[in-house]
Amino acid sequence: MNKANYKKNIVIGAGIAGLSFAYKLKNSQEDFWIFEKEAQARGTWQSHKYKSSIFEFGPNTIIDKSDALREMIKSAGLEEEVLSSSLKESKRYFYRNNQLIEISSNPFKLIASKILSLKAKLRILFEPFVKSKSTDKESVYDFFARRFGKECAENIMGPALQGVWGGDIKQLNMSVTLSHLYQLEQKYSSVIKGLIFSKKERKKSKRLQTISFRNGLEDLCTKLAGYLGNLKLNSELLSIEKEDGLYKLKIREGNNQEFYYCTNLILACPAFAAGRLVESINLNLAKALMNIFYAPIFLIAYSIKKDLDKNHQDIFDAFGFLNATKAHFTLGTIFASSLYKERALDDEHLMVGFIGGSKNSQIADFDTKDLTAIALNEAKEIFDNALEINTELEDFIVINTKLIKQAIPQYNDNYLIAKNIIDQELEKDSSLILVGNYMNGVSIVDTIEHIHKLDI
Ligand SMILES: Cc1cc2nc3c(=O)[nH]c(=O)nc-3n(C[C@H](O)[C@H](O)[C@H](O)COP(=O)(O)OP(=O)(O)OC[C@H]3O[C@@H](n4cnc5c(N)ncnc54)[C@H](O)[C@@H]3O)c2cc1C
Repeated sequence: MNKANYKKNIVIGAGIAGLSFAYKLKNSQEDFWIFEKEAQARGTWQSHKYKSSIFEFGPNTIIDKSDALREMIKSAGLEEEVLSSSLKESKRYFYRNNQLIEISSNPFKLIASKILSLKAKLRILFEPFVKSKSTDKESVYDFFARRFGKECAENIMGPALQGVWGGDIKQLNMSVTLSHLYQLEQKYSSVIKGLIFSKKERKKSKRLQTISFRNGLEDLCTKLAGYLGNLKLNSELLSIEKEDGLYKLKIREGNNQEFYYCTNLILACPAFAAGRLVESINLNLAKALMNIFYAPIFLIAYSIKKDLDKNHQDIFDAFGFLNATKAHFTLGTIFASSLYKERALDDEHLMVGFIGGSKNSQIADFDTKDLTAIALNEAKEIFDNALEINTELEDFIVINTKLIKQAIPQYNDNYLIAKNIIDQELEKDSSLILVGNYMNGVSIVDTIEHIHKLDI
C-alpha cells in the first residue's frame, strides 16, 4: 500500500449527507477525503437561474430547526445569504374539485379549512377519544383513517405525502414516515393531546421557518465543500475489498483508476448505489439496501405571463399547491418566483411542477416529450379551472425539465424489513458507516440531524 493513498476516513458522495459527515470529522480534527463521482459537490441539489429569479430541480427549502444546520451555514459563510419565510405565513393550496383551496400548516386551522366536509371536521374532534393504538406495521393511511377518519386521510394526508415524499399513503409505514406523530399517539394516546401537551411540539411549531440562499440552495453544498477541502471530484468508487483490516477502494479518476485505502468507510450515496458497492463485502447488507424502493419524479420548470390573468394575481403570492386529483400525474407545483420576494419576476410567474411519485412509477420509462405534454396539459387544466380562464398550451413556456428515475426513498413495509437488516449488519462492523436520506428521515434536516447525533 502506498501511504500517500491512505486516510483514516474516506467518505463516498458529496451530497448533503457526505458533506455533513465530513463536517463532523473536520470538527473532531479527524483526517478524511471525500470522493464524488460528479464534477460538482451538490448531490441532488440543482439551483438554476432564470432571468432575475431562481428555480430548484431538487429540494427547494430546508426547515430551519437544527442547530447543526445553522453551524454549517455559518462555516460555509452563508449567514448573510439566508432567505427565510415563515411556514405559518406562506400561503399554500390544495387543488381539489377544480379549485385551489387555501390551507394552513397549523393543524388546527387546516381542519377548519374548506378542504373537509362538516362531518369530517366533527370526526376529527373525536380523535382524543379513539382508544386503539398503532402497531409498527400500520400504513399512514390506516393510521389517519383510524384516528381522524377516512376523509382526513384521503383529502389531507394523501396529497401532502404525495407532494413531500412522492409517496402513496397506503404504502408508507406510519412508524417510520411520520415517527413523531406515531410517538405522540404512543405517549399521549392521542395525536391532538400530544400536540397540545408535548412541550417539544409546542416549541417546534413556534419557530418553524423554511430557508434557502440568495443564489439557491445548491450554494450550501458548494460553499461547504470549499470550507471542508479534501474533496476529489470526478472520482467514482467502483469496488470495495477488505485487505489487512483496511478497506481497499478502486476509484475511477477521470480516465484513470487508482486504489485508495482507509480504516473507516462512510458511504453517503443512495441506498441502491451503496448496495451495489457492498455486495463484495456483505451480501446480506447489499440485498437489504437494494430492496429500498425510490419513487421517480419528473421536474418541469415553466413560466406563464402575469397578464394572462389580471384578476387573480394575489393567488400566485404563495408557496404553491399540492394536487388532490387522483387521475393526475402532477403531485404539486411550486410557485418559484413567489417563494421569496428576492426572486420575483416583473411580468411572469415561474413554476416548477412535480410529476410522478410512487403511485405513477411507470413515468420512469416515459420519454421527456410525453412527460412534458402530460405536465403542461394538467397545468393548463388546473389553472383554467381554478382561475376561470382559458389559456392555450403555448402560454406555458417550458424552461427546463429533468427526470430523476430514483428520486425519493419510500419508507414502506419493505423498507422496515430492509432497515432492520441494515441496522443489524452495521452493528457488527463499526468501520462501515452508512448515511443518507434512507437512514433516518427523508428531509434534509432529518439527514443532517441523524449525522450530527452519530458517535464517531
Ligand atoms: C425532487 C426532490 C425534491 C426534494 N425536496 C426537498 C425539500 O424541499 N426539502 C427537503 O428537506 N428535502 C427535499 N428532498 C430530499 C433531499 O433532497 C434529500 O433527502 C437529500 O438531498 C439527500 O442527500 P444525500 O446526500 O443523502 O443524497 P444525494 O444528494 O443523492 O447525494 C449522494 C451523492 O453520492 C454520489 N455518489 C453516488 N455513487 C457514488 C460513487 N460510487 N462514488 C462517488 N460518489 C457517488 C452522487 O453523485 C451524489 O452526489 C427532495 C428530494 C428530491 C429528489
